Amino acid sequence: MPDIIKILPTEVSNKIAAGEVVQRPSSVLKELLENSIDANSSKIKIVIKNAGKNLIQVIDDGQGMSRNDMHKSFVKHATSKINKIDDIFSINSMGFRGEALAAIASVSMIEMSSSKINENDGYFIEINGGKIISEKEIIGNKGTSMKVQNLFYNIPARRNFLKSDFVELKHIINVFNNIALSHNKIEFTFINNDEEIFYLKKESLKKRIISIFGEKIRENLVPVNENTQIANLNGFILKPAFAKKSRSNQFIFVNNRSVKSQFINHSIFSSYEGLIRDGYYPGYFLFIDINPNKIDVNVHPNKTEVKFDDDQHLYSIINSAVKHCLGIYQVIPVLDFEKDPSMDVSYNNVKSISKVPSIEVNSEFNPFHIANDLEFENLFFKKSKDKIESDQEFASKDFIKIFQIFNKFIVSATTSSLIIINQNLAHQRILYESFLKSIFQKSNSQKLVFPVEIDLTKRQLSMFNMIDSEFKSLGFIYELEKTLLKISSVPDQFKNDSIEEIIDNFLNSESDFDSKKSLSNSDFFAKALSKSFSIKTGHKLNLSEQEFLVNQLFSCKEPNLSPDNKQIFITLSKNDIENIF
Ligand code: ADP
Ligand code: MG
Repeated sequence: MPDIIKILPTEVSNKIAAGEVVQRPSSVLKELLENSIDANSSKIKIVIKNAGKNLIQVIDDGQGMSRNDMHKSFVKHATSKINKIDDIFSINSMGFRGEALAAIASVSMIEMSSSKINENDGYFIEINGGKIISEKEIIGNKGTSMKVQNLFYNIPARRNFLKSDFVELKHIINVFNNIALSHNKIEFTFINNDEEIFYLKKESLKKRIISIFGEKIRENLVPVNENTQIANLNGFILKPAFAKKSRSNQFIFVNNRSVKSQFINHSIFSSYEGLIRDGYYPGYFLFIDINPNKIDVNVHPNKTEVKFDDDQHLYSIINSAVKHCLGIYQVIPVLDFEKDPSMDVSYNNVKSISKVPSIEVNSEFNPFHIANDLEFENLFFKKSKDKIESDQEFASKDFIKIFQIFNKFIVSATTSSLIIINQNLAHQRILYESFLKSIFQKSNSQKLVFPVEIDLTKRQLSMFNMIDSEFKSLGFIYELEKTLLKISSVPDQFKNDSIEEIIDNFLNSESDFDSKKSLSNSDFFAKALSKSFSIKTGHKLNLSEQEFLVNQLFSCKEPNLSPDNKQIFITLSKNDIENIF
């Protein structure tokens, strides 16, 4: 028997490893931006085409690379940032594993140009699938340009796996926001499909937040500034009135690196307890500085996970700092903890923002708790009165008992069987069919007495541009003046007063539907909308709301499956139940 084990060629092993570092266009952007930052750039320009599937280019004015370094840069584990194992425990740079360029180069077509000084010393290298195909001397300005084209061109399965442009662009803008927020001293230009969507000059953190999220956020920013032995906290939290249905305004940075952390989210969330409505999330831009020896950021190659040695203390420091800030700005009526009042002076703007905010916060609020059933129905459906009555009759005859369990399922016992329905999936199906119907009928638009004006953020605007024709066919009539969206008519399903929230919520939603799996843009849009607006798991429903859901579900064309093909309910017949015993 011949030996069968062989060592994989570097190209193959790089391609495999690439999957870890490069999941999608946004991961390429993240790595390129981090490299430009590590190169001490003061200006960075980003050029994106087709949500990064065709082009991601990052041009910086940083220290540049020599010809030799350019050759080495896309070799695996080639890095200028650490020398010995101890270095990884005290990392100051964004990158350090020396994996990114090797991975990206193996799955795309790269053109890199770089120059160390403003002279005729520039060099250009073109790499396809990890191999150099051309190189030459060029005249270049100091800095580096990395042009990454046709991502995954040599791995069709991965390329097909990419989501719609709408979804991929969202990821890209999220990466950009994270980097731009944590590097306010760097100037950024962001061009998407030949259109400039961000120009951010060097500015303070507060201004940077406003430049990205719009003027509206200014009044809601509450500064955080807390120095302790374990960690220093800086940044801003958002007043409870600015809470959103999505987590899209939650940004945490540890030593200026964007991270995800459930326990920090939880710590902040619990500081807001009682101040925000059910199903809403607070917003924050929290910067935590901590001794690098006390954390481990090397948990995963894409470096968004972080481990803290002393997470319990950190939890309570964050929790009380946030409560303290909310208290100082008088959004908490009574402070339930003691704090040295001398600390208050360290808050820079304490005098200027000490007015009482004009918000009312109702912790009991439940968006689905509406006084009468009819109103609840009108929230999403316009139905004739006859139909409602016949539905109620239907409910009382066929469904003998109905109740909710775990704030998640509706259980309904008929004379012959037991049905367990997932409330969230059921509502998605109901909304989906209703939205589809409205899109295709194109009929029921209602003129608003007072047109609604919404100032979209740049991110929202580019999202909106991708789905504007669906918005129109759903029955919205609007004009767009730069970033100002003026809506004059809305589809019947939407109540006037919630339009702004609906649009905001949809454009911020994390829905990850793959439009390629959808039949059409309209189908994608209806799916995404229904996912955004459905009643979520965790919502307590009263009896009439439960009945409403059950009745509506079974009037759907396809009550069995949710829009993304998940089973909505299970049925246990008498026999099934008897067989269990
Ligand atoms: P890492 O960033 O982990 O060191 P990368 O594969 O991302 O690894 O980059 C490899 C090396 O290429 C870096 O260590 C750096 O020396 C060089 N490099 C990459 N991008 C740039 C850039 N924009 N400017 C200057 N040097 C760069
Ligand atoms: Mg890097």
